[in-house]
Amino acid sequence: MITGKNQIGFVKSAQGKKTFKTFNPQKNSENDSVFYEATTVEINEACHLATEAFKTFKNISGVQKASFLNAIADEILALDDVLIKTYCSETGLPKGRAQGERGRTIFQLRSFADLVTEGSWVEATIETAQPDRKPLPKVDLRKMLTPLGPVVVFGASNFPLAYSTAGGDTAAALAAGCPVIVKSHPMHAGTGELVAQAITKAAQKTGMPNGVFSNLNSSGIEVGVQLAKHPQVKAIGFTGSVGGGRALYNLAAQREEPIPVFAEMGSVNPVILMPKEAESRAEYWGKILAGSITLGSGQFCTNPGLILGIKGPDLNRFITTLANEIVKIEPSCMLHPNIIGAYETKRDIALAQNGLEKVTSFNSDVQKNYGRQVVTTVEGATFLNNPKLHQEVFGPFSMVVQCEDIRQLETIVSQLEGQLTGSLLAEESEVLENNTLVEALKSRVGRLIFNGVPTGVEVCAAMQHGGPYPASTDSRFTAVGIHSIKRWLRPVSYQNWPDAALPKALKNENPLKILRTIDGKLSIDKI
Ligand code: NAP
Repeated sequence: MITGKNQIGFVKSAQGKKTFKTFNPQKNSENDSVFYEATTVEINEACHLATEAFKTFKNISGVQKASFLNAIADEILALDDVLIKTYCSETGLPKGRAQGERGRTIFQLRSFADLVTEGSWVEATIETAQPDRKPLPKVDLRKMLTPLGPVVVFGASNFPLAYSTAGGDTAAALAAGCPVIVKSHPMHAGTGELVAQAITKAAQKTGMPNGVFSNLNSSGIEVGVQLAKHPQVKAIGFTGSVGGGRALYNLAAQREEPIPVFAEMGSVNPVILMPKEAESRAEYWGKILAGSITLGSGQFCTNPGLILGIKGPDLNRFITTLANEIVKIEPSCMLHPNIIGAYETKRDIALAQNGLEKVTSFNSDVQKNYGRQVVTTVEGATFLNNPKLHQEVFGPFSMVVQCEDIRQLETIVSQLEGQLTGSLLAEESEVLENNTLVEALKSRVGRLIFNGVPTGVEVCAAMQHGGPYPASTDSRFTAVGIHSIKRWLRPVSYQNWPDAALPKALKNENPLKILRTIDGKLSIDKI
């Protein structure tokens, strides 16, 4: 049942007078539940409990943490249709998408459970002592990763399950041993509360400390600002707009004790159609991109908002097919009137720029809150000289840039802002023959895609979801896959520490039987 209350550790709380409701974009009306905005007292209590919980949670075994993560997955599944219905009523997204996202959320939780059960993720590195080394003896040094402390996670509007309350950031932080305080996204506060209840149940059932998880409601930025400034918060995970992510990053840097902010803020995801590929498969790619641009009404951080090609008849065939195919696709509901409002504003700003031509748009009447797709085109030189054309239009919008030649294409790519992905639609020989272009693309993105579209982010260890700013605030880390755990960890070295007092991961006997680097060699051996 949705109560609208905040979840402060194991206790539900509703002290505040400020309330808000979520919105059903399909019905174009508010949902019934009333949510209580978290007060300063509740924020302080959540941070205090998280700090207390950290004292024990940071040291619990991988097996115990795994049982907690798996129990969260079980409790989410037990919510069954109630969760799916609430999700749909707060997002306008179809049931199939809700079920798919729940599956991804469960998979992420269980992947982290497996990771911490196995244990080698702590990256134990041991250099044994050499007392007889000349001219100076070498000390015994043993290093491993250790959790940072309480983490604040800002739920993402476009992933109410997989990147919100029990999403990738939360699963990774809990796996690392960091208590989590979620700043629930106001657009899906009911979905968030149900998942928060599941996490709380799982924490109680598996004996986790009170405060290992809290969920705070808010419909404005004040709660997030207070959390970012709170001295007991040690790191932040965020998915959303560049404005929001950058504001939190600045706040965190201005604190007396600055803390890391891992913000994933999206991008335009350039797709390059190379000449030989355009010659042989212009129509094929036109159709594929029409689907990718409109997927989820374009509300993905990996949406292909920018397509680059060399001017000529083959690119024209591509543009014609893209235009013809994209208008055949029925528009779908966007997440919220604010998101569709932002989409229309940014789209209109782009369309007002000199030299940008609308190739096609979906013009028939649509239901309220449905996003109508638009394809535009522009000359390479015009694009290069107008930074407003480089901005993300979050929704079903894309721009085809017609470059004079490969040199101009390279110049454009090398001047793009940081991106999550870059796709090359090409024959293999075109990849091999255009090393400068490939290197330029590599310097701008986190994931290079060959003959594929950027939408569809596989959750696995080899995935890099993050890129140079403004795609993310720290391109060294990923927000997807098990390696995202590294955002919530810091290394600690023990020098000449007595074996009996060392953490299990670093003891001579290797009681956890984990893979360690000992004197430069990977091994599971004892010392
Ligand atoms: P958002 O406006 O960035 O908000 C995300 C979360 O951050 C919300 O919980 C919001 O709180 C909080 N927040 C925003 N600005 C803040 C600030 N200055 N200080 C503290 N907290 C702050 O993103 P959104 O609501 O998800 O969607 C709005 C727009 O973001 C979209 O139209 C789209 O352009 C972009 N977006 C991009 C991606 C992507 O992956 N590229 C994903 C989602 C959204 P409140 O809501 O409570 O104010």
